[in-house]
Amino acid sequence: MTISYKELATKGVQGLTPYQPGKPIEELERELGISDSLKLASNENPLGPSHKVQDVLKQNLSSLHLYPDGSAHLLRQRLAQEHQLLMSQITLGNGSNDVLELVARAYLTDKDSAVFSEYAFAVYPIVTQAIGARAIVAKAYPAEHEEMPYGHDLKAIADAVDATTKVIFLANPNNPTGTWIEPAALYEFFNKISESVIIVLDEAYFEYMPKTLQPESVKWLAEFPNLIITRTFSKIHALAGLRVGYAASGEAIADMLNRVRQPFNVNTLAQLAACAALDDQEHITKSVFMNSFSLRLLLRGLDDLNLDYIPTIGNFITVDFKREAATIYSALLHQGVIVRPLANYGLPNHLRITIGSKQQVERALMALDIVLNDPQAAGI
Ligand SMILES: *Cc1c(COP(=O)(O)O)cnc(C)c1O
Repeated sequence: MTISYKELATKGVQGLTPYQPGKPIEELERELGISDSLKLASNENPLGPSHKVQDVLKQNLSSLHLYPDGSAHLLRQRLAQEHQLLMSQITLGNGSNDVLELVARAYLTDKDSAVFSEYAFAVYPIVTQAIGARAIVAKAYPAEHEEMPYGHDLKAIADAVDATTKVIFLANPNNPTGTWIEPAALYEFFNKISESVIIVLDEAYFEYMPKTLQPESVKWLAEFPNLIITRTFSKIHALAGLRVGYAASGEAIADMLNRVRQPFNVNTLAQLAACAALDDQEHITKSVFMNSFSLRLLLRGLDDLNLDYIPTIGNFITVDFKREAATIYSALLHQGVIVRPLANYGLPNHLRITIGSKQQVERALMALDIVLNDPQAAGI
């Protein structure tokens, strides 16, 4: 008898579709035999890690035979100081993705549900499904919505919560749409949700938001014991390759997350790098500045190409090609430019482009121009 190892797996895992990451540069270059390609597919910071971070990394290579500090004392202390929280309110993760998974493992079972919006970050359905919990997807605002096309509809999210709901996942700004929620609306929403439902507010792009749109979410932790804020070092701090992120929450929730956390989930170099990154304010400021400069440049270019896009406050923008974008995606690959297809998000006509440096924006616009206006040159 042949055994089906699929059927032996848990129901949740059987139904799982794996996360589709942005195409790595090496893979594209191997496949097409090209070089000098550009990846604008995973919202990485074009500046790269701060020199202070790089120095710390070099200085600590010789201690890699030792296990990391499993409690990440120094980094948690630094984060607690940064946010004026207790160390016991900080849970570290191997990227914030890890923290999202800890929430699912600590709070969801196959009898529970998690609520999130249509077009929400792909990791929410994955961590929910992996546990075997039910995903309830609230309709997003339609494409024609005047203020926030494709944006999260907080009323729809609140209405979707039922007796089985234990967790709400909410990204602000959201990836892949770049849409956001006004601080006052967010606060009102938190007040509406029962304290028995955990709200995960994913603030991966917090630093990129204009100051007026940054909610005082960390302060709200004192008011909402069911709130978990997640942040990451992958975006503004340019440390995506090291994998470090964290949750800030009430102590009671942090205690539960910590119980399911792998003892050494954040490696030694990541801990040291994250501390150094927090200390380099200049690099953060420079990253924000570069992004807003490049965004303006990119918007002008997209307008010149008569392309429609979803308004964004992140380090990426989602462009609406008004037709199947798969061919455009492949043609861009042949120009050596990797962007992100969004068909798996239910947005087959859209592509997401990371904003990048000035030179990268210029190159992306040039590639788009060739692909859209000179199909012969683009070979399509
Ligand atoms: C990039 C991103 C993250 C961060 O992922 P890491 O695991 O920290 O690299 C989390 N949430 C959203 C919405 C993101 O776009």
